[in-house]
Amino acid sequence: MRGTMIYAPGDVRFETVDDPKILHPTDAIIRTAVTCVCGSDLWPYRGAEPIGDPHPMGHEYVGFVEEVGSEVTSVRPGQFVVGSFATSDNTCANCRNGFPSNCLHREFMSTCQAEYVRIPNAGGTLVALDETPDESLWPSLLALSDVMGTGWWAAEAAEVRSGSTAVVVGDGAVGLSGVIAAKEMGAERIIAMSRHESRQKLALALGATDIVTERGEEGVARIKEMTGGIGADSVLECVGTAQAMSQALHSTRPGGSVGFVGVPHDVAVDGQELFFSHVGLRGGPAPVRRYLPDLIERVLSGRIDPGKVFDLTLPLAEVAEGYKAMDERRAIKTLLAP
Ligand SMILES: [Zn+2]
Repeated sequence: MRGTMIYAPGDVRFETVDDPKILHPTDAIIRTAVTCVCGSDLWPYRGAEPIGDPHPMGHEYVGFVEEVGSEVTSVRPGQFVVGSFATSDNTCANCRNGFPSNCLHREFMSTCQAEYVRIPNAGGTLVALDETPDESLWPSLLALSDVMGTGWWAAEAAEVRSGSTAVVVGDGAVGLSGVIAAKEMGAERIIAMSRHESRQKLALALGATDIVTERGEEGVARIKEMTGGIGADSVLECVGTAQAMSQALHSTRPGGSVGFVGVPHDVAVDGQELFFSHVGLRGGPAPVRRYLPDLIERVLSGRIDPGKVFDLTLPLAEVAEGYKAMDERRAIKTLLAP
């Protein structure tokens, strides 16, 4: 089959690779329906993470089950499935406690920008739909495998409540998904921090009520101005840089919470400052598998449409251009169709 490999910063290739095989009785093989490029794929692409030997890329997927291992009973060949970027058995203590993305048997997906994908822990990881959904819904279902689940987790971790004020730091696909989640959780005011006009428009269309274009200390001052001088109840940090984290912590009111879901790069939190701020802080890889049944239902019923975060669709073979377009900020998120 053909799949995506990264060789060096800026060097992504679509080439012939080994066909995935069932390695464990708990594995499944799926045929990719659609996949995509994640903002976090840009860290190695931009040289912000070491690459080492050439390796496959991609952790978001929806597809059709091709083959299952002997111990996989919850899905069968032919079914359309959605799964998380982190696999989970759905039975261990961490899974039962609601944190499947910290499953004791977790494996992070990393080969999904390909025609076929091996899914470890398939029985716990994959959720099969009753029937193959209309193709128009595939982008939104694909978004559930990472960005929409991650935005949901940002809102949950930031303790968004009905009637509250939520600030979203970051206008990428996760930030925009965070806007959707905050709206679904009943936030009355949703302030999106964005400097890009097309993304501001999309944030407003998805449920944001206000836009703040300032960043850093000016951005914090603006949020305070809008929140009676104290800061917001909930702040969703969806970037992962030191500046974004600082902006998030300083925009939160005493007693409020920050949910941070951008993979931290050079982020340090000052213990003294956190102590005296009374701000709650929680983040990490989103427990996507826990959310899937609910989020799938919201997509199928038309309640949410997170597929809107895809503003570029390319054939999978043109994956390199998909990375380039996102790196150059010509695209928010690239959808790839085999
Ligand atoms: Zn588990």
